[in-house]
Amino acid sequence: MDNREGSGAAAQVDAGKGSGSSSPDSDDVRRGHLDAIKRMEFLRNLFCQTLGLGSEKPEKVLDELTLDGVSRFLLSEKCKKGVCMLQASQISVPTGHGSLYTNLATVQPTCLPQAIFEISYSFKQHPEPFFALARELYPGQFKPTVCHYFIRLLKEKGLLLRCYTQNIDTLERVAGLDQEDLVEAHGTFFTSHCVSSSCQKSYSLDWMKEKIFSSLIPKCEKCQSVVKPDIVFFGESLPSRFFSLTQSDFRNVDLLIIMGTSLQVQPFASLVSRVPTNTPRLLINKEKTGESEPLMALMGFGCGMDFDSEKAYRDVAWLGDCDEGCLALAELLGWKDELEKLVREEHAAIDAKSSQAVGDGASASGAPAKEAKQSLSAKKKSPPGGKEN
Ligand SMILES: [Zn+2]
Repeated sequence: MDNREGSGAAAQVDAGKGSGSSSPDSDDVRRGHLDAIKRMEFLRNLFCQTLGLGSEKPEKVLDELTLDGVSRFLLSEKCKKGVCMLQASQISVPTGHGSLYTNLATVQPTCLPQAIFEISYSFKQHPEPFFALARELYPGQFKPTVCHYFIRLLKEKGLLLRCYTQNIDTLERVAGLDQEDLVEAHGTFFTSHCVSSSCQKSYSLDWMKEKIFSSLIPKCEKCQSVVKPDIVFFGESLPSRFFSLTQSDFRNVDLLIIMGTSLQVQPFASLVSRVPTNTPRLLINKEKTGESEPLMALMGFGCGMDFDSEKAYRDVAWLGDCDEGCLALAELLGWKDELEKLVREEHAAIDAKSSQAVGDGASASGAPAKEAKQSLSAKKKSPPGGKEN
């Protein structure tokens, strides 16, 4: 529908003014309208410029606002690269194992005694509570979900520009995504660094895990400062990689897929509005989210998601479990068998390594029985000094 009543009306008023056939009273009324319209246009332009909202009429690129429409677009020439955005809460929990880190991630902003996660004071002075919590919450196994493997398929088919995740549990890496494919907005447990700014020596996940389960506070081998997993603490800024890549990625993307995030937490909440106005956005989530404030929507500012209004032209919501949503999309893409095979094979490999680890006496470190099962060797790569921005 026409979302530019303002400019249309302005043109009519201007045309009427030229006719010279109206009374002085109606001239005043018209001038008043014109002023109001000009003010509205000024505001609209201001918003468009300052908020980066498109003022041009957006092109509709999906033939249908459904998962079918998205699948046809994904397979078309028009879609070259897509970005996926993930959040911990709904993605990792279905594994039934990996919720320790994700618990850390999800509670971190609000509920936990915040001091545990404060880098400036608490952690450097008293790192014990954090590592006790990490030990308690450490996942029994690193087992990515269907959703993670779907993203790997996107990568293998050359369709993944980047995966932005708020997970800190490394499951994207376990599923086969590389550092280059990922922006871990809240950091990751995959690598750790010495907190001393003059040292910053890097440590691997295996090294950190051993310290955590031996109940030792991880200390730098070079300078004896505490070593901290590279997750983002209070008082720390997000990884520089996040800021540099969001600049270019969200401007150049053909499709945005948002999975398992409520879009309530920054920085993800604001990212959905950064894509070009004709870029389709698919939300796979338990409920609709990210929609505009009603007042903004009424004024024609389409910053938020719009699934249902008569002006909706690019946003699609698939409601339900993320894994099921990915399977449904994979089926429409003709990838379902491939995806299921990948999940089966990868999970079998992880299980095999887990039982091997138990056989090798992995529990000798003194970890509780539950943890003895875990296999850190399940991960794809373990560069000893893994780099992280
Ligand atoms: Zn050090």
